[in-house]
Amino acid sequence: MNASNRNHQGIGMTSQRTRDRLIQRLQEQGIHNEQVLDVIRRVPRHLFVDEALAHRAYEDTALPIGYGQTISQPFIVAYMTQLLLEDGPANSVLEIGTGCGYQTAVLASIFPQVYSVERIGALHQQAKSRLAELEIYNVQLRHTDGIEGWPNQSYRFDRILMTAACAEIPEALVGQLSDGGVMVLPFDDGSDQTMTKITRTADAVVTESLERVVFVPLLPGLG
Ligand code: SAH
Repeated sequence: MNASNRNHQGIGMTSQRTRDRLIQRLQEQGIHNEQVLDVIRRVPRHLFVDEALAHRAYEDTALPIGYGQTISQPFIVAYMTQLLLEDGPANSVLEIGTGCGYQTAVLASIFPQVYSVERIGALHQQAKSRLAELEIYNVQLRHTDGIEGWPNQSYRFDRILMTAACAEIPEALVGQLSDGGVMVLPFDDGSDQTMTKITRTADAVVTESLERVVFVPLLPGLG
């Protein structure tokens, strides 16, 4: 079934009122960036989950997407995107962990150039066809292990976000940040996960620990 059919069938569960309720909840939880709120209101999250779960797409909750993975909770998507915009607008962003492609679609509405990598081949393929159905063209996807970042090592990104929790800050990713670049990632210290913001300047790398979070783990190799 194509995107427009599903859109049509989903009229009840995807009504403006349902989406507005989600936006109100995000605002109450501290999401204040108007651009982020506007994009979350517009991106059809119900098209990124299985049809059987589509009626729950505008709840502020993570949902299974198969292969033991989840679509991130809308609050988390909004929160990470807001962090990426905190230091002003940017041109290019690299996402580690495409999953179903929802966060990718959100980023594509905000940043001119979006790159995203996923280790599970089937999820990578699904995300690719979904984004094409939605006519989102400013995204490049790769099926690869994101620990090494984007395969072309000469690339530099203004922003990087990791959507799976890592136990070590991947050096390759810090190396792919441009000067003034910002990376946000859930860092797992063995007992807790903490959203972490890393800012690279010309001569230093600054790390800030933010909120407690819960993510699926970053895994090595291809799946
Ligand atoms: N961005 C997604 C979140 C998906 S969950 C969303 O919008 O909902 C995290 C994803 O990271 C999973 O799909 C998982 O397979 C992927 N992942 C885990 N380890 C990875 C790695 N080393 N490289 C690339 N992707 C990875």
